[in-house]
Amino acid sequence: MSLDLLPHCIAALDIGGTKIAASIADASGPLIRLVEPTRTSGTPETVARQGLALVDACCARLGRDPATVGALGVSSCGPFELRDGAAGIVPPNLCGGLPNGDDLPNDWTFLPLESVLRERFATVKIANDCVAALHGERAFGSAPPNSLYVTWSTGIGFGLCVDGRILHGKAGNAGHAGHMLMTESTDALCGCGNRGDLEAMIGGRNFGKHLGKPLPDIFGDARRGDPAALEVVQQAARWFGRGLYNLVAILDTEAIFIGGSVWQHNQDLLAPIVRHEIDSRFPALTRGVSVQGTTLGELVTDIGAFALVMPAGWMADWQVRRPWESTRSATAPNAEPSAS
Ligand SMILES: [Zn+2]
Repeated sequence: MSLDLLPHCIAALDIGGTKIAASIADASGPLIRLVEPTRTSGTPETVARQGLALVDACCARLGRDPATVGALGVSSCGPFELRDGAAGIVPPNLCGGLPNGDDLPNDWTFLPLESVLRERFATVKIANDCVAALHGERAFGSAPPNSLYVTWSTGIGFGLCVDGRILHGKAGNAGHAGHMLMTESTDALCGCGNRGDLEAMIGGRNFGKHLGKPLPDIFGDARRGDPAALEVVQQAARWFGRGLYNLVAILDTEAIFIGGSVWQHNQDLLAPIVRHEIDSRFPALTRGVSVQGTTLGELVTDIGAFALVMPAGWMADWQVRRPWESTRSATAPNAEPSAS
């Protein structure tokens, strides 16, 4: 890319079921990040247009012309569906028109993303949030060529890298292993309609539901030795560890990076059991597999979205300077710092 064509700024959108974040970066590093609750009413284009408005709000706070933003990287909840060659999303936690969406104030069955975002940006790259996170870990973390990124929060998702290639699949949905079926001996229902898939059993929405307590209380009770809470936590860790083992066996993985609120806040209880679930199985497949938290912290998906569209020269420079670790934004009262 010639110097004349290099963008002054790039933007990142992180579209989730509960919040949407927009960030702007220039060659020096991330400049600002704004977050809002994801809108769930209006037309199906609402979420994409909210993202564009949030990018504009970032520019306004920075006093920059939105026309200087040359490319947009998007990390989004999935799954994706291609319509007329353009990617949109069908997320069960936003689409009220899906079979299990009765509690949502809309009748959406498909949210267009790419077609709307391309009205503003000539360069748009969209990836599933865990795939974007893995791009971030590969570019700026320590993920080796055969690695997994996993998030364990409300939902469970994966990004898969094999032989140095991050897998995308026919519609960008490679890594939706939260929907792999684990057992028939449960009524636990996932937003996708499956009973007994990994997300149904241990995603944050369903985890320990029968105990009738918020998740932090369940973990707190488990730490105090409450037998019922401890059993729920240990069983969840076993299911999660088995899911990881299955993927290690399928993909010959050497390193697993885990993010997401359930994992980040409760590694002390979960990690030993997850580790055992992997280590206690066929050593030829599991020996030496590392399990660790994300090295990029809570901004991993934002940085991953930037990495999707970042000029190569910036990437080499960021790898050395790691600007997201020191850059802070104080340009607006409700702006989140660019790095924590
Ligand atoms: Zn599912």
